[in-house]
Amino acid sequence: MSKMRAVQVSRPDGPFEIVEREIPEPAAGTVRIKVQACGVCHSDSLTKSGHFPGISYPRIPGHEIIGIIDAVGAGVAGWTPGQRAGLGWNGGYCGYCDNCRRGNFFACRTATYITGITSDGGYADYTIARAEALARVPEELSATEAAPLMCAGITTFNCLRNAGARPGDLVAVLGLGGLGHLGVQYASKMGFRTVAIARGQDKEALARSLGAWRYIDSREQDPAVELRRLGGAKVVLATVTAGDAMAAVLGGLGVHGTLMVIGAAASLQLSPAGLIAGCTGIQGWYSGTSIDSEDTLAFSVLTGVRPMNEVFALEQVDEAYERMLSGKARFRAVLTTGN
Ligand SMILES: [Zn+2]
Ligand SMILES: [Zn+2]
Repeated sequence: MSKMRAVQVSRPDGPFEIVEREIPEPAAGTVRIKVQACGVCHSDSLTKSGHFPGISYPRIPGHEIIGIIDAVGAGVAGWTPGQRAGLGWNGGYCGYCDNCRRGNFFACRTATYITGITSDGGYADYTIARAEALARVPEELSATEAAPLMCAGITTFNCLRNAGARPGDLVAVLGLGGLGHLGVQYASKMGFRTVAIARGQDKEALARSLGAWRYIDSREQDPAVELRRLGGAKVVLATVTAGDAMAAVLGGLGVHGTLMVIGAAASLQLSPAGLIAGCTGIQGWYSGTSIDSEDTLAFSVLTGVRPMNEVFALEQVDEAYERMLSGKARFRAVLTTGN
């Protein structure tokens, strides 16, 4: 029992290697999680490619982790072996820097802990987590259901609930992939008049089954014109990674509307004059910290929001990653360990 399976990357752009490693021991302030499921997120490509600055190898990717705590390090309060726990992109924070003391833990200035980037992540039988980064996992959610909510879920849920829209407001979700299929569900359950925007008429039935009130096919229709026709959007949640698709919806914002950007597009070209007339804005949104993850999981249980997953065994990591990267996964790929 002293060895575990792990999927590691040994160099930038190196292959996934399935290796045996020593099971790590939790240091002070950390716990060891026996991993049950770990989602495969597009940001895992930062670990695979080495595009994140300062990453050291070998590194185990994965930041959509659900499992059982099986060992607790010194000085950890509130967590005991046997508890279910989730771990997402935010791997913890210092608690004493200026940003932390103002409550902006996500922007911690002295310690950047990113799961699967600065420390080993969840593509393994076990992983180590800082205690402040842990989220409680309700028993109503299976490990595979909960895993994608630790990044795709928290990112869309926490962005939508902080975007300034009120029940009844017009809220559009741009893109209907791994993030968007959750964003449409959350927006609908939050009581927004939810508009899904995607390419192709074939996605309309899916969008409506997820709770969309209206569907805009951006191949056939101008999304800005259509949103204006509906009164103008209070919020557009931009889940796509194409800057031109984001620019194309800006004109659909209503007065004081905001384009909330969670898709890391390379660039975004816009006309500043277009922002002035309606006092519209553009804002980015960071996923959140552990309490936001707990809120995401609890809201998902309360309202029935679930990710649609393709599930793979840990050894099928190449297939799972390729499904995610190609955009063919419907809609999130999840690795399971059998633990
Ligand atoms: Zn992610
Ligand atoms: Zn800090």
